Amino acid sequence: MAANGFIDKARITVRAGDGGGGAVAFHREKYVAAGGPDGGDGGKGGNIVLVVDGHMSTLMDFRYKRKYVAPNGEPGQGNRKSGKDGTDLTIRVPRGTLVRDTATGEIICDMAGQDIFVLCKGGRGGWGNQHFATPTRQVPHFAKAGLPGQERDVTLELKLLADVGLVGFPNVGKSTLLSVVTRANPKIANYHFTTLSPNLGVVALDENTSFVLADIPGIIEGAAEGAGLGHDFLRHIDRCRLLIHVVDVSGSEGRDPVEDFEAINAELKEYSPELSTRPMLVAGNKVDIAPDRTALEALKAHVEAKGLSFFEMSAAAHQGTRELMWEAAKRLRELPPITVYEPTYVERPPEVDTSEELEITVEDGEWFIDGPWLRQLMANVNFSDYESRSWFERKLRESGLYDRLEDMGIQDGDGICLYNLEFEYRK
Ligand code: GDP
Ligand code: MG
Repeated sequence: MAANGFIDKARITVRAGDGGGGAVAFHREKYVAAGGPDGGDGGKGGNIVLVVDGHMSTLMDFRYKRKYVAPNGEPGQGNRKSGKDGTDLTIRVPRGTLVRDTATGEIICDMAGQDIFVLCKGGRGGWGNQHFATPTRQVPHFAKAGLPGQERDVTLELKLLADVGLVGFPNVGKSTLLSVVTRANPKIANYHFTTLSPNLGVVALDENTSFVLADIPGIIEGAAEGAGLGHDFLRHIDRCRLLIHVVDVSGSEGRDPVEDFEAINAELKEYSPELSTRPMLVAGNKVDIAPDRTALEALKAHVEAKGLSFFEMSAAAHQGTRELMWEAAKRLRELPPITVYEPTYVERPPEVDTSEELEITVEDGEWFIDGPWLRQLMANVNFSDYESRSWFERKLRESGLYDRLEDMGIQDGDGICLYNLEFEYRK
């Protein structure tokens, strides 16, 4: 979080709804003594869903609300009536929000390449006893509990989606440039740190040529060590395909443009070595009030010696700004598209304490197993994945479940039922 209250990083916890329990019920009808089992299934828990809101530009909403819980599914009822599913809980985020697993920092999703993402899945509802009748078991007195919803602790990070980012010392005229070449309306004032949050604007040059320009708050020397606004803001240029480095060449603040230019470059490099190799145009601003061309020419020579293109301009007087924007557009045509981050997150089964004894019920050669940690596992294991499945199998073995079943007299070929997972026991 930045010191000034602009929020572009937030940590939240999210939990999908639990599945509702299945019902134990029996059909009742006049003149029919004992009807069959007709307990309905529990409803599914609501998901936690992230949705991009194009009107949001900060993570401010997450400052006070940090916990999000989706509703549970309702329990099943008699007469084969299923419980209602819990409704999904939608969380709105600004476009360009990167979602990371807080514990590992891995990327779960990038809300730049997609508008909707299911962050946590609701738990499945449990089966009612209607499913458990067999020819030998006419009166099943049990149903299944619902599975728990997924839970996560995530960190949201806003990384704006802009083609071009303006970088430079405070007060050099970045916001002025943005206001001149786009319809954006950033605050402009003659003191440092005017820009407290990044501003975006669309530069529309002609019918077929437009791009998004972002004004990044002032970077100052020492930002890498946490001085001033620090590096929080630098993450907004992470995705920019091109940088425009604005330098004040008027000498109005007694500054040396070459030194300023190098100081900012050093900051960029410290933040990210990769960022210091990002394509860059350099704009010497405030030529309208420069007493002579000495400082400007010195910067131009310095910059061109590095193989970079130099432009002189007066943002305030709208001089040279259009040429600069056309050059930016031309460069963008040759540059790769905006970075969308690939997920790096690997789903890990939850830490469970398997020492707690599971409940075992046996009916007609079928063994029903239940318990809180088993539910937790079942909700999180991906059974179509071989590794997840063998991990699950190992956990069961380690918990001592099979030894207990043996002691209780389980036979080869008996059925084992763990929620919706049924298999035959083999020694
Ligand atoms: P930022 O901190 O880099 O965003 O700088 P601003 O755009 O807020 O501008 C800082 C000050 O410089 C404001 O008073 C602007 O009016 C002024 N300024 C910006 N561009 C020019 C320019 O080309 N010529 C002159 N004379 N002043 C300018
Ligand atoms: Mg500004």
